[in-house]
Amino acid sequence: MLVLEKRERPGIKILISGGGHCNVTTTLAPREAEAQFGLGAGRFLRQAIRATPPERIRSWLREFGVETFEAEFDKVWPVSRRAKDVVDALASRARLAGAQFRFGAAVQAVRATPDSWRLNLEDASTVDARFVVLATGGLSYPKTGTTGDGYRWLRELGVAIEEPRPALAPLRVDDPWVHALSGLTLEHVECQLREATGRIAWRRRRPVLFTHKGLSGPGAMDASARLEREPGRYRFHVDLCPDQDEAWLREELFTGTGQLDARIARLCGVPRRLATAIALRVSPGVAPSEVPKGQRTALIAELRGLAFDVRGSLGFSQAEVTTGGVQLDQVDPRTMELRDHPGLYVTGELLDVDGPIGGFSFLAAFATGALAGRSAANVNRQP
Ligand SMILES: Cc1cc2nc3c(=O)[nH]c(=O)nc-3n(C[C@H](O)[C@H](O)[C@H](O)COP(=O)(O)OP(=O)(O)OC[C@H]3O[C@@H](n4cnc5c(N)ncnc54)[C@H](O)[C@@H]3O)c2cc1C
Repeated sequence: MLVLEKRERPGIKILISGGGHCNVTTTLAPREAEAQFGLGAGRFLRQAIRATPPERIRSWLREFGVETFEAEFDKVWPVSRRAKDVVDALASRARLAGAQFRFGAAVQAVRATPDSWRLNLEDASTVDARFVVLATGGLSYPKTGTTGDGYRWLRELGVAIEEPRPALAPLRVDDPWVHALSGLTLEHVECQLREATGRIAWRRRRPVLFTHKGLSGPGAMDASARLEREPGRYRFHVDLCPDQDEAWLREELFTGTGQLDARIARLCGVPRRLATAIALRVSPGVAPSEVPKGQRTALIAELRGLAFDVRGSLGFSQAEVTTGGVQLDQVDPRTMELRDHPGLYVTGELLDVDGPIGGFSFLAAFATGALAGRSAANVNRQP
């Protein structure tokens, strides 16, 4: 088995993942993990994740001396907190299985020959192979080497590709009041995507961070794929006090004297700076019990779903993954082989699968990669 890698070392994305610590997988059981990818993609990934569940990924690493631990939000990290240990373990594992690595080997084209596949490399050499597993990643963080080459080759072969777009990316919001709160984090909030009717189409309890360009943090980034795929369909909201009863909130918020922003901060558990910004927008300079009735309703609505005018994401340069890619009906989920191109397998971010932050991207990449490799090896052994 030959691994062709355009960069000078393996696993660059793993090295920079999780801030250099690598959130390598999830603690969730296969069924729950697959559900994180949504209905269609989850069903597509079922066999791959069953064959390589999160527990298996942890045992791969353990066999090479990399212990892992479970942390908040169902995340799994190496005990050493060093992504490099994960890369070294996986590379050792691949070498032990017979893989040879060729670095600085940029593939330029993948073409069918009568009985195999021909890869044209940048240095004008070629490699012929009966089985080719494409694992060239998506378009995110292109400076790491993932420049969407795989999509181009597959398009040339007539494979249907869902338009690749940035995902798990910070959101761009142009409102000055948002920028003014840069650096502020909301920990215990619920992020929501609401349709024009008010229906909540998506919700997730994850922290949000205000930045000088808009919003970041897992809650905002998890929403980015849907906002990118269907621009204009949803509005991004943050429920600042998802655990509070609305009637109780109304009662507590508008009785007595004192300052409205201090009351908001205490009852909702949000930073005072944000509470002040909200109070100023709704009822500037008014004591809690003097807030007019109509404004009370507006204020409660803000607290239970602060709305942001999101102008898309900050793009591929800051997106952790790509949404879109090879349409799933083109691929056999039992093997990862392209249905119309025997011997050509597609894995990881090249596929139209993307999950939330939490080790799910690696789970999908490792599980589909392992399935493709195993399937190609099995066919290879057949007479
Ligand atoms: C900043 C950041 C942090 C992340 N953190 C996490 C995290 O903590 N947990 C998590 O689960 N996911 C995380 N991800 C996402 C995760 O890294 C990717 O989803 C995953 O690496 C995708 O795996 P892949 O095998 O599909 O592609 P990649 O890991 O992107 O690998 C593709 C490889 O193909 C090579 N290549 C590309 N084109 C060619 C060519 N023409 N010829 C030869 N080689 C080529 C590239 O150099 C690259 O090494 C993070 C991503 C980023 C950008």
